[in-house]
Amino acid sequence: MMEQYLEIKAANPGLLLFYRMGDFYELFFEDAEIASRALGIMLTKRGKHQGMDIPMCGVPVERSDDYLHRLIAQGHRVAVCEQMEDPAAARARGNKSVVRRDVVRLVTPGTLTEDTLLDARANNYLLAIARTRGSAGAGRIGLAWIDISTSEFTVTECATGELAATLSRINPNEVIVTDALYGDPDLGPSLRELPAVTPLTRDVFDSSTAERRLCDYFAVATMDGLSAMSRLEATAAAAAVTYIDRTQVGRRPPLSPPAREAAGTTMAIDPATRANLELTRTLAGERRGSLLDAIDCTVTSAGSRLLAQRLAAPLTDGAAIVRRLDAIAAFVADPVARDELRTTLRAAPDMSRALARLSVGRGGPRDLAGLRDGILAADQALARLAMMELAPQEIAAVMEALRRPSRELAREFERALSEQLPLIKRDGGFVREGYEGELDEARNLRDASRLVVASMQARYADDTGVKGLKIRHNNVLGYFVEVTAQHGEKLMAPPLNATFIHRQTLAGQIRFTTSELGEIEAKIANAGDRALGLELEIFERLCALAIAASDDLRAAAHAFAILDVATALAKVAVDDNYVRPEVDTSLGFAIEGGRHPVVEQALRRDGQPFIANACDLSPLPPPYPPPQTGEGKVGAGQIWLITGPNMAGKSTFLRQNALIALMAQAGSFVPASRARIGIVDRLFSRVGAADDLARGRSTFMVEMVETAVILNQASERSLVILDEIGRGTATFDGLSIAWAAIEHLHEANRCRALFATHYHELTALSAKLPRMFNATVRVKEWQGDVVFLHEVLPGSADRSYGIQVAKLAGLPAPVIARAKSVLAKLEAQDRGQTARALADDLPLFAVPSRASAEPAPPSEAEKMFEAVKALHPDEMSPREALEALYALKAKLPKQ
Ligand code: ADP
Ligand code: MG
Repeated sequence: MMEQYLEIKAANPGLLLFYRMGDFYELFFEDAEIASRALGIMLTKRGKHQGMDIPMCGVPVERSDDYLHRLIAQGHRVAVCEQMEDPAAARARGNKSVVRRDVVRLVTPGTLTEDTLLDARANNYLLAIARTRGSAGAGRIGLAWIDISTSEFTVTECATGELAATLSRINPNEVIVTDALYGDPDLGPSLRELPAVTPLTRDVFDSSTAERRLCDYFAVATMDGLSAMSRLEATAAAAAVTYIDRTQVGRRPPLSPPAREAAGTTMAIDPATRANLELTRTLAGERRGSLLDAIDCTVTSAGSRLLAQRLAAPLTDGAAIVRRLDAIAAFVADPVARDELRTTLRAAPDMSRALARLSVGRGGPRDLAGLRDGILAADQALARLAMMELAPQEIAAVMEALRRPSRELAREFERALSEQLPLIKRDGGFVREGYEGELDEARNLRDASRLVVASMQARYADDTGVKGLKIRHNNVLGYFVEVTAQHGEKLMAPPLNATFIHRQTLAGQIRFTTSELGEIEAKIANAGDRALGLELEIFERLCALAIAASDDLRAAAHAFAILDVATALAKVAVDDNYVRPEVDTSLGFAIEGGRHPVVEQALRRDGQPFIANACDLSPLPPPYPPPQTGEGKVGAGQIWLITGPNMAGKSTFLRQNALIALMAQAGSFVPASRARIGIVDRLFSRVGAADDLARGRSTFMVEMVETAVILNQASERSLVILDEIGRGTATFDGLSIAWAAIEHLHEANRCRALFATHYHELTALSAKLPRMFNATVRVKEWQGDVVFLHEVLPGSADRSYGIQVAKLAGLPAPVIARAKSVLAKLEAQDRGQTARALADDLPLFAVPSRASAEPAPPSEAEKMFEAVKALHPDEMSPREALEALYALKAKLPKQ
């Protein structure tokens, strides 16, 4: 047996081997050690190998899903090895023969189908990365990603530099690459950081056989009909299907033909920006508190998955955005339709996942029922949609898709399936009585025989005169006659011992069998087996019907998801008072009454109002009339510099504007009273000194790396959010970097930007940069404390109120008092004065001079600073000291 084990183990390197032995999957050697640690189960031993004990641990087959789930979640991959024959058959071959076993499936994070292993609300993608061989510098990457639990299959191509952003958008659960790419000095390190990366041999990524492998998978003669993919895309696609083929060991989950995603059709959002804006997860890694969580009112898991996809990939095509918005608008206008459809949707099961399970042979009767209910729900939804007055394009497409699945299929399932369905098909009893004569017959025979057993009991009680005689059943003896010990003697003595054959004596009871009972038992078992066999046949037949209709069923499932998202976003829009954004191709950006969708909800739970704020980043002359706010009008400027004390609401304001743009382009209504947005091609968001200890980089380094990305990549069409950049270093360093960054954004990138800062000195820049605008968040000082009004107004803050905030936070009174006096001293030196002088002195950042390495000439302040630094008071006589003082004074600029 160990020989067989080692052979199978060697054929599946890198995977834990679940080796089936009776009711357990056993693990041996290192696998056992890994699994016992990962699962917290007992490590035992079994036999010896080369003189050493063999470590072993096992998981019961019934509960294996749970254990698999935990192993996969910890990044392991598992090969499931089953017994391929009855142990009796092996014994029949000779007493030394081992039961035939084979791996039936590889369980990896990216190739799951079981409900118990999947998150219902998230897609589960396997993603393949291909690169042209031997041309490390070519810079193009092909990507293909597949969710076998929903059949989605997409391919695209991107530049090497965009790989990180693309990966963070798709958020795959498993990535496959070539060994070479895995070890690549440039891309390797970031790839190896991904949660589950599987390096594979080169043949999987062989571009010359890619088309053949794809054709083979889809069982077509040529790939022309599938879609026009580039060579790189086809290579990645072929690698992905080859891997799926391997993991499913011969069962091919049906896939949609690969959809090709053209470059530039979605808003580019890099990983740092995604994390920072807390789109689908908070910085702490939780769903709760994310944008997705705040606006996800969907009622189906497929709807929830689609909404997550849309938020992760906002569109750049105005017409496509408008189509989504039209659908939401229709449901905002018709609350009755919205609510009734949501009720219908709630009853619509996850058809695409049910279908995927059925097609890889892991489905059950309830999956068939799911498809039946889905088709019935489609009729209901169609009836309701038909009553709506206006059917925008997206809804019309939904209706068309819902009409596709065959109603006859649903009726067939309805006729075939019973009311109560077992979870697994082997339990039987899921086919309705009257559906198939042969099955009814087998069942009747089985049940009639059971009745015969009951009447036999009465007859035996009569014949023997033992009133308490019972016929019972257990798995060891099958049917048997049972009497108390006291009556046992009687049955074992003539004449009764001719009929009753002794089987077992227990403490209080004695058990017998009879030949008649043996016959009837065989009949019952045969009829039962026959009934189950017939049921399983029917199951396979129904399953084949479903698979044959899978294109239509999938289309309907997708239509449900679209309907769910549209009605859910309409509900949020109504409940939270969102408006329809106006999206166009200008470079404008004007938000009135903007709010932060997540903070607003959190404050509402505490009974607090959220203060709405306007923002206008439109170029001059603006494409839109500027928004109004409160008492004053906001000004316009493509770069807003926002100063204001800690806790005033700067970060919230920055993020809310980014989120509004993102939501609008994802095709959602937005938390504002009016929003006009020229389509954003890339969104950037950075926070100063964000911790990234896990990756072992200094926080300031991270901040600068990320800032560099923005300054190098942001285009005129981009939207940039910089929150206290330069905070992670010494004051003058940070101020200088922030200063230069703003100039660069203004002169070189020319993008729309919001920049929050504590460096009040930076506000002086507005005098020189015509498209920069100063805004501040209002606070009120009241009896030495600061009151936050959260109102964004034109102007600049003159101080940070850090000490007041520290006081609110409960710093000890003596520390507060001391800080105040230190601050007074520092302020006497007037850093602001220096900066204003700087603004006057420094020539404006000039784009072409970016490359020139020549340092700027020292300013007056710097000359002064150098002069003081050169003095050594300890080595001076009093007279020299006095002279030095006069000399310094003389150096001051003339007033
Ligand atoms: P800053 O970045 O200026 O230090 P934050 O944006 O972090 O301030 O905001 C601090 C807190 O103030 C937030 O957690 C939120 O509770 C509250 N807040 C911010 N903006 C608003 C607003 N517009 N209306 C009401 N409360 C707000
Ligand atoms: Mg902040």
